[in-house]
Amino acid sequence: MKKGRCPTCRREAIKAGNKLWPFCSERCHLVDLGRWLNEEYRIPDEPDTSGGGVESVTPPDDER
Ligand SMILES: [Zn+2]
Repeated sequence: MKKGRCPTCRREAIKAGNKLWPFCSERCHLVDLGRWLNEEYRIPDEPDTSGGGVESVTPPDDER
């Protein structure tokens, strides 16, 4: 099974049976479309790391 990275949210996206490949979901597909239409580069889900005052960072849930 082929996998890839969703260009919008950078999570793994599975290709099999996915019409929206390489996007993981319709939402990400639309986000990318809107990005092109607006000629902006905004990622709504991206946490703002540029600002100061980082209180706590939750480690990625990656236990294997
Ligand atoms: Zn995605």
